[in-house]
Amino acid sequence: MTANSRCSAAEPPGLETQRREIESLLRECELCAGDSWYVVEHRWFEQWKEFVETGDQNSSSFPGQIDNTELFEDLDSYHLKERLVENEDFVLVPAEAWHKLLTWYSMVVGQPPLERKVVDLPSTLKVEVYPVEIFLCLHSNMDNLITAQFSRADNIHTIQKAMCQAFSVPPGSECRLWMKSSDSSCERLRNLHVSVLDACLSSGMTVIMETRNADGTWPSSRPQIMRNSVEEQDSYRGQSGVCGLTNLGNTCFMNSALQCLSNTPPLTEYFLQSSYLEELNFTNPLGMKGEIAEAYADVIKQMWSGRHYSVVPRVFKTKVGHFASQFLGYQQHDSQELLSFLLDGLHEDLNRVKNKEYIELRDAEGRPDQEVAEEAWRNHRRRNDSVIVDTFHGLFKSTLVCPECHKVSVTFDPFCYLSVPLPVSKERVMEVFYVSLDPYAKPVQHRVVVPKAGKVSDLCSALSEMTSVPPTQMVVADVFNHHFFKIYNADESLSCILDRDDIFVYELSVQEEQQEEQQEEQVLLALYLRERSHYRDYGSGSSSYGTSLFGHPLLLGVPRSSCSQEALYNLFLQRLARYVRRPDPSEELEEEEEDDDEEELYKTQTNGISDDEQQEEAEKVDPSQTQLSEDAAANSQPDATANADPPPELNHTQETTNGSGSQTELLTSAEGNDANCSSNENSCGNPSRTADATSESPAEQTPRPGEEEREEDKQEEACSPSPLTVEQPTKRRACRKRRKSLFTIQAVNSNGTTERGSGEGGSAVSFSSQPYVAIDWDPDMKKRFYNENEAEKYDKHASMEVPQQQTTVQLQECIELFTTVETLEEENPWYCPVCKKHQLATKKLDLWSLPEVLIIHLKRFSYTKFTREKLDSIVEFPLRDLDFSDCLLRKNLSNGEPPSCYDLIAVSNHYGGLRDGHYTSYAKNKDNGQWYYFDDSKVTYAREPQIVTNAAYVLFYHRQDKIRKPTLPPPSTSPASSTPQPANDAITSCKDNNAELGASSYVTMETD
Ligand SMILES: [Zn+2]
Repeated sequence: MTANSRCSAAEPPGLETQRREIESLLRECELCAGDSWYVVEHRWFEQWKEFVETGDQNSSSFPGQIDNTELFEDLDSYHLKERLVENEDFVLVPAEAWHKLLTWYSMVVGQPPLERKVVDLPSTLKVEVYPVEIFLCLHSNMDNLITAQFSRADNIHTIQKAMCQAFSVPPGSECRLWMKSSDSSCERLRNLHVSVLDACLSSGMTVIMETRNADGTWPSSRPQIMRNSVEEQDSYRGQSGVCGLTNLGNTCFMNSALQCLSNTPPLTEYFLQSSYLEELNFTNPLGMKGEIAEAYADVIKQMWSGRHYSVVPRVFKTKVGHFASQFLGYQQHDSQELLSFLLDGLHEDLNRVKNKEYIELRDAEGRPDQEVAEEAWRNHRRRNDSVIVDTFHGLFKSTLVCPECHKVSVTFDPFCYLSVPLPVSKERVMEVFYVSLDPYAKPVQHRVVVPKAGKVSDLCSALSEMTSVPPTQMVVADVFNHHFFKIYNADESLSCILDRDDIFVYELSVQEEQQEEQQEEQVLLALYLRERSHYRDYGSGSSSYGTSLFGHPLLLGVPRSSCSQEALYNLFLQRLARYVRRPDPSEELEEEEEDDDEEELYKTQTNGISDDEQQEEAEKVDPSQTQLSEDAAANSQPDATANADPPPELNHTQETTNGSGSQTELLTSAEGNDANCSSNENSCGNPSRTADATSESPAEQTPRPGEEEREEDKQEEACSPSPLTVEQPTKRRACRKRRKSLFTIQAVNSNGTTERGSGEGGSAVSFSSQPYVAIDWDPDMKKRFYNENEAEKYDKHASMEVPQQQTTVQLQECIELFTTVETLEEENPWYCPVCKKHQLATKKLDLWSLPEVLIIHLKRFSYTKFTREKLDSIVEFPLRDLDFSDCLLRKNLSNGEPPSCYDLIAVSNHYGGLRDGHYTSYAKNKDNGQWYYFDDSKVTYAREPQIVTNAAYVLFYHRQDKIRKPTLPPPSTSPASSTPQPANDAITSCKDNNAELGASSYVTMETD
């Protein structure tokens, strides 16, 4: 220490004064976050203490200049040595004490003062002797690392400012910071307001900064977003906002919603101007820590950069799925549902209210609407204040009236969109084919109006009015691929029937009204037509032929007793008479006796129609009961003959009487080849010629002892309708010489395939369920006798000529429905505070105030107890001047209140049905005023008349006083131009390979 240096300091006070001042400062000064303290070498400070205690200015213990040399690692960097210990290696003095010491003693030249801040560490205040020392670099040049020290109390924004300065980043650039720890994992430093300590930044870590590209992407995520080559993307310059969104697999619902929001000017400008950065709410427990808002901002910035044909919103989709698991995966969703989630998520992520206070909601209690509404809005804004509230939130009045005590409860509630119902038609138009009992009548196509929630019987009733046939005489069936997909019961709901189903309604023969008790049961027989293939079906191991269904199936009511092969054959011939020609007498149809194939076929067919009940009956023969059935049979005979529809046996008679020799022969052989046929028919009450000829009363004619035997015969017959029953080979041989049938009858299952499982000749079909039979044709017989052309003919009823009008409703009607008084449903009652119980109150909604951008959701998806359907009525909505002044409850608008006139700016469309479908959107570009059609990655020009369709699902309206004039002229080529023509340079540069869209009004701008 030199005398000079000693003199250079200001004249210090006396030693006792020095001691007193410094000691009192050390004693009294408390740690206070943000204050500065200074590090002083312990040895020097002890020396000073000794010096002042001697009280001798000339003492040898004079400490000299403040010297912290021992604390430094070296005297170049002046880095503090690691692990220095307070009160061993150094002492901490408050700023005031430090400045006094510095004034009195000065400091060794070149040494930096060791100023340290008091930081508020969790649960303790502490002087931060060692600050956080981190490396900084740019994403674009990560080799250029610089070192910097920050306090744990500094926030990330301080680091960003320091980096912008250190790396000369142009002002106005949007930056993103990442921190990289030693294990080289990177994490976004998203919240700039968070402290270094809270961000878990510690010494040795690296902070990387990137700046947003001109195309809206970030350098770090560019590889994921880039789809085209770098050169192509970089050279592309298109209209801002006219940008497709790639479908990531059933994400058209999301793309459609995004395009609508993207074309909502106030919201998009808010993001493009980066206003959101200031308002990101990282702490809102209702929000998504700003992540949805940031991901949305990234998509919007890319879409509006004008440098992309199409953007891949993958990050956005992942974030959405992360926060709303229902949107995870790749199923189709509802664009309105996503919109609702997104508006809510953006609102909470951007909520300027950081701490929501609890506000108790008050009922109106008779106060004037104006007062209650203003209070409600004020309260809403105290908890919810964001660009979403500014843009989309309105207020409606909800009035509930208790049905019992008539308590009126009025509340005013904010809304983000209006979900308006569509008038639901309670009726439904169905197109069906009616098949008359008259075999010569073609099926007639009818259009009938039925109640939507009705039953199949309602369809029959509606058809009955046109046909004068009683509904009870109709059976409704769904025909699919030449067979019955479903035969409906009268009490089944019509909602089971889809519009695309082919519905046939069959007239059945009259059931006798007389002698109800003895009425013979009528069997509903389903009849299919099949053609035999030429090849044998070796695959199944049996030697039958393959068959394929053709033509129209039929439903016939057949008396149970007429189910013999013979009776059915004739019945079918008669019912098919319009397109199945009966063999001409001259035509040789004789069948050779030794037709092995034929024989074998019959043997292997499971060609029985069995009757469980009859079988049962046969097992426990009850003679009296049989007698009764015979009586019934006898009695029903005259009725059957009187029937307009001749029963099969009448054909017999006709054939016999009209018939030439060959027809008689056909009959004879048919009769003769099965001796028990006549008795069987007799016992079943079918008036055979024998019965007719011999006796008026078949019951008398047939003696009772024979009953049992005949029952067995009957059963056999039922099991084997084939004329050549396996059980009676001798008889078959005997009557071998016979006419060949046009077709054979085969019991089948509902699909029209032969059931093989129940064994050969076994009881394949049970009458306890629906019986199905097929008539099998040999191809050459079918060619000769089946008139395919005639079979396919049908007539159209006059009801088909009335043009079916598309239901059209006005948007205004939907809004009126929204404000119609309704009674709450059982599942959603209201708790009446007067009655102290839940009540099915009446509820009325009224619009009070409307937002700048009004979203109207058309509730096309209707789910009720009875039906789930999509309503595809056209809702006629105006493109301009949608005026709400008449339906706003608040009539006395003060001056300066905005008008309530709106123009359309975007539409989300849904095409398709309930479960499937496709979403697109129409939207108007805010900059050039042109309408575009957004279909995932494709964007085309749209004309205004195209916009109103029955696909419109969510409408976006902008209040007229807020609409700004387009800043750009509309595209140079009018989309109304008659030839597809590139509209400008940007459009020509695109790959136009979307020829199938080729409508003259469309110019393809981008193809994915
Ligand atoms: Zn009440």
